[in-house]
Amino acid sequence: MNWIERDKAHVWHPFTPIKGAAEPIHIERGEGVYLYASDGRRFLDAIASWWVNIHGHGHPKIAQAIAEQALKLDHVLFAGFTHTPAITLAEKLLEVLPPTFSKVFYSDNGSTSVEVALKMAVQYFFNRGETHKFRFIAFEGAYHGDTFGAMSAAERSAFNAPFQKLLFDVVHIPTPTVENLEDSLAQFEAAAQQGDVAAFIFEPLVQGASGMLMYEAAGLDKLLALSKAYNIVCIADEVMTGFGRTGKIFATDHLTQKPDIICLSKGITGGFLPLGVTICNAKIFSAFDSEDMMKTFFHGHSYTANPIVCAAAVASMDILRGEECQNQIAMICRQHAAFLEKMKAHPLIKNIRQTGTILAIELHTGENTSYFNSIKAIIQPFFLENGILIRPLGNVLYLMPPYCITETELLGVYEVMENALVYLQKL
Ligand code: PMP
Repeated sequence: MNWIERDKAHVWHPFTPIKGAAEPIHIERGEGVYLYASDGRRFLDAIASWWVNIHGHGHPKIAQAIAEQALKLDHVLFAGFTHTPAITLAEKLLEVLPPTFSKVFYSDNGSTSVEVALKMAVQYFFNRGETHKFRFIAFEGAYHGDTFGAMSAAERSAFNAPFQKLLFDVVHIPTPTVENLEDSLAQFEAAAQQGDVAAFIFEPLVQGASGMLMYEAAGLDKLLALSKAYNIVCIADEVMTGFGRTGKIFATDHLTQKPDIICLSKGITGGFLPLGVTICNAKIFSAFDSEDMMKTFFHGHSYTANPIVCAAAVASMDILRGEECQNQIAMICRQHAAFLEKMKAHPLIKNIRQTGTILAIELHTGENTSYFNSIKAIIQPFFLENGILIRPLGNVLYLMPPYCITETELLGVYEVMENALVYLQKL
């Protein structure tokens, strides 16, 4: 059997219909912004492989950190034991987070970082005897991952349709825009007044999976202030926005009000290994800071704080904070803004928007804007034929390149984007 037959026989791919989907591309090697397929093709990874490879592929410093750590200590359970990579990473994360944050809890991926946050918020109240506070507020269009708690927090959609009877009830309010801010605040307050809300969870500034929807910090700040007034824990899901994506290290750096809990994953190891972290402030931690066994946070995964993974994240953090990477982020932000300016009046473009290094283009197609918009099936192959890997969310095309992309390469991606629009106009 060749690799396609072997894949078809034995492998089940995520977010992929079993019949009708294009055959997977067999990638052999990655270096910098490029992925190399076994059939000789080369693809510029313009979405950092589901937003994780912030420094591109195979960064030698991260690879070396992993190799060194693997030879020293592969793994040790994290209950009753600790190790330097986990301690160093916690210190490095807290160094760049607002000073209110104080404790780092490790898990494996974005969804688990969210599960941990939801449980931490509910148990914060439980440990204080406030057992009536257990509900959540989230945004319409929210996406927080694929586990049950994360799916519950998300907007009800085709993604979670089979499970909806099993999802717990969450109050979904409009994501605040200039037009609907009053409505969003009013709906928040109506829910808060019930007295049973434990936490408000949100993707700050950009709602990723639901179509790269972008909104202003000012409205979110108002909701956070309301949360605080109603003793509601604020959870920032920065799984996508963290580690430079919005132009600052964290999207919450654009906010005046700070969340109580932050969820991080994706870019944290530069795409080498899976890791999730949930970080809380002293207020949340204080409810667990007890000799009472019953106040323990009974949550932990076998691979919690795996030393090799933590070593990768430490190396990735060092690269991110370096001058070279920060200059690259600024360059991408600048170039995206210039391209947006150039394209905003294009007749095929319904909306073009940017937050930091994320650029999204919503196309007019004669169908509704949706993940299931059929234009994806035309546009993605066009980009692949032109050597660029993107994965549109229906009719929303977006670029989220690795920070190591050169200016010339980025301009080349824009050129393919323009050519794609010409191609679509001719159809
Ligand atoms: N939260 C957000 C905002 C996300 O975008 C995602 C993944 N796209 C997740 C959580 C879940 O992360 P993971 O896929 O690592 O479980």
